[in-house]
Amino acid sequence: MIVRSVVSTFLVLTSAPALAHPGHGHGEGHSLLHYLSSPEHVWPLALLLVALVGLGGWLWRRSRRRNNARS
Ligand SMILES: [Zn+2]
Repeated sequence: MIVRSVVSTFLVLTSAPALAHPGHGHGEGHSLLHYLSSPEHVWPLALLLVALVGLGGWLWRRSRRRNNARS
């Protein structure tokens, strides 16, 4: 349920910048520099990174809890 909410929130937040792509930011539209230097792309990437770190931490803690319960 949590994973589904995080994924759907991410998709909703990143769909608007994708639709507004032509004519903004720096460099060519599909270059790495463009994605790393344009605010329209940086904050969704940062949000994705935070979500992935959070999900990884949650899975790691859950795995540790299950391993501790077995021993
Ligand atoms: Zn762009």
